Amino acid sequence: MEEKKDISVVIPIYNEQGNIFELYNRLILSVTNFTEKYEFIFVNDGSSDNSFIELLKLSESDKNVFYINFSRNFGHQIAVSAGLEFCKGKCVVIIDGDLQDPPELIPKLYEKYQNGFDVVYAKRQFRDGESILKKVTSKLFYRILKKIAQIEIPLDTGDYRLLDRKIVNVLNKMPEQNKFLRGQIAWIGLKQTYVLFDRDSRKNGKSAYSYSKMLRLAIDAVTGFSDKPLALVSRLGFIISFLSFMIIIYTLFAHYVLKETVTGWSSLIVSFMFIGGIQLFSIGIIGEYVSRINNNIKDRPLYIIDKTNIKKHD
Ligand code: UDP
Ligand code: MG
Repeated sequence: MEEKKDISVVIPIYNEQGNIFELYNRLILSVTNFTEKYEFIFVNDGSSDNSFIELLKLSESDKNVFYINFSRNFGHQIAVSAGLEFCKGKCVVIIDGDLQDPPELIPKLYEKYQNGFDVVYAKRQFRDGESILKKVTSKLFYRILKKIAQIEIPLDTGDYRLLDRKIVNVLNKMPEQNKFLRGQIAWIGLKQTYVLFDRDSRKNGKSAYSYSKMLRLAIDAVTGFSDKPLALVSRLGFIISFLSFMIIIYTLFAHYVLKETVTGWSSLIVSFMFIGGIQLFSIGIIGEYVSRINNNIKDRPLYIIDKTNIKKHD
């Protein structure tokens, strides 16, 4: 019978060959502050560099290191979800593989967990080495999300956090394809708290989160947790039809009563373009929701594993 681990650490890896060894060493130092019963689960999300070779080396030298090698790149959120499905610890820490989340914070997260919290997330105080545009867009995004989503998603947090087994079990039962873990965890509730930290700049390699990936995550977050865009579209449609109706009345009145035929080709073209634009935008928003319905009814597996040295529990 396998002994129960006190803590699992889940690390998504996409082209992090230069960071893995240092991360591993710092994780060991950090975690052994409070337990010897730990496991590290590295999920290699289709890296095109030598990350996987590094992981194989580590797993040969340390029996507490496990790897899950995806068949291709499935994305950060999916990689973390896979780690959560396989991990066996009483609690789990999710941490980035690029050393932007300092492993030295884990004892602090663990302490809060021991004080009875189910989720302890790491809240960034300062961010180093990220472009102004990234900082501004992410600040703005969190604030908009807070306004329009029906749940309270904590501001300025990434995925670096500690989760109690209860939370992990619920997450593992949430089947959605378009994952936004921060939102899902907030949605679950229970006792949540945070610890402040300063985010470092990434050690080696470069961010794999292009603006298009960030946009996709943002749309997943919004469509997954808010119906407001749909409501907005229908309200907008109503207001515009009402305005057009008023304009029609006015035009008839001007023509028959005031005997003034409204000239103005430009105003016509402008209003056509305006309404056309709004219509396309609205259809686009509806399309985002429809494509997610489509994704979910296909019921495909979330990811395909090429190779792993860990067994799923139960
Ligand atoms: N990552 C991944 N799959 C991807 C992109 C990123 O597993 O398709 C991992 C990456 O290796 C890192 C974490 O997710 O451990 C966060 O990625 P990144 O540092 O690129 O994001 P940022 O910090 O810029 O938001
Ligand atoms: Mg990073």
